[in-house]
Amino acid sequence: MNKQWIALNMPITLEMKTTDPEEMKLAVRYWAMSETGEFVEKVMDLVPFRDITHSGTLAAHVRTWCRAYDENLTCRDCGTYLEVTSRSAVKKFPQQSPWPCPECKKTRERQEREARAAEAEALERELSAYRAQLPSGPIDYTQLSDDHALLLLALNVALSPRLGSAAFSVNDCTALAPLDVGAFIDKLEMAHAIREAPLDAMPGTYFLRDGELMFHTRALSYRLTPDIHLGANDEALSLLIEREYADASALFNLWLDFATADAMRYFFDKCTAFNHDLDAKQYSEVRSTLREALKTLSVSQVWFVAWKCVKDAASLARLVYYTEERATATLPGKVRRTLEKAEKEGTVIRKWDRPDHQPSGALGMLFTELFGIDEDTPGADVLALLNASRAEHCEPQNAMLPPEAVRRWLCEALANDTGPQMLERFAGLIRDGYDVDGAVHALLAPTPTSSAAL
Ligand SMILES: [Zn+2]
Repeated sequence: MNKQWIALNMPITLEMKTTDPEEMKLAVRYWAMSETGEFVEKVMDLVPFRDITHSGTLAAHVRTWCRAYDENLTCRDCGTYLEVTSRSAVKKFPQQSPWPCPECKKTRERQEREARAAEAEALERELSAYRAQLPSGPIDYTQLSDDHALLLLALNVALSPRLGSAAFSVNDCTALAPLDVGAFIDKLEMAHAIREAPLDAMPGTYFLRDGELMFHTRALSYRLTPDIHLGANDEALSLLIEREYADASALFNLWLDFATADAMRYFFDKCTAFNHDLDAKQYSEVRSTLREALKTLSVSQVWFVAWKCVKDAASLARLVYYTEERATATLPGKVRRTLEKAEKEGTVIRKWDRPDHQPSGALGMLFTELFGIDEDTPGADVLALLNASRAEHCEPQNAMLPPEAVRRWLCEALANDTGPQMLERFAGLIRDGYDVDGAVHALLAPTPTSSAAL
């Protein structure tokens, strides 16, 4: 059908779809406007028309007979007149529509699709180049330093049982330590014990900003680097359980990192509870002070100092001539002075209990299981305990109670989360009259149902 355009003496143009003269005439009457922009006829005066008796349904019929374009309403992209479907949508003054005409809308959508596709292609290109330069080969687990090996073992416990089989992100590793999990993961990546796995990352992890590849750190995915002989599996990870941990200096530094995380987590929580909003520089100052203190004190003593200082600062904030901000600013100095005063005067700082909501994490558990170090062990004794462990390795194996076997047994209980069953069997044997050595030997002996694993 040929389009028939009707220009009225008003800002509405009609495109007729019907050829019925009466329908055309009624459509014109429906849209007719006076010079002042008022509709000439009331809708209710236009009915009845044939079988249309209700004025409320007339607009829908008129829409089937013609399209109406409002000359006062133009497309913001191409300037064409936009279609109006009811009298109330007609504009009294010339203006641009907030949305484009259907043709321009299609054009915009196509352009957006093309831009998205081009961006995805550019991202894939950058990401592919990035992937190509990431480390890819296996490593020799026996060449890992003791601190990296212990950290990897802790990660295996924290992610049990999927470290060897699946990708993970920093957010999956919260069971590793009370704080600083990202820093521990970075340490393992630097040691090539784990590696970034872009192909396993969630969509949106990597993106382009001004053409440069960026990523959301917490969303990065990692995978275990395979051992050169055994691959990335439980057998390879068992090397970490069986090895002799003898580098006391490296292990002491790892313990300091862990103890600082354990102390800072408590400090963070107390600051939040007492409404102290420290800035990054202030936190960093406190962190350095606590790390230094932990070389002699225990984590539980440092918790006490943190609690006392945070509480004192909160009291200050309540004084009329103090503000929250000024009271908070005293915290780094207060922590440092409290520790210096205690050291100078030889005061024995009391120990604070571990908060229920702050478990020591897999790394803390391993320090306890392997070396007998926990939150109450003064830093001054930690190095000695680590050195004692080395001496133990150098001595001939105790025939009655081989420490290596016990260590492996405890680690496996941790890794497999069978600690409760293990303790229950141990207690049962003691109740049956075994002494400690005998009970341990009985537990270590292979059974028909479970071999070395417990
Ligand atoms: Zn347009």
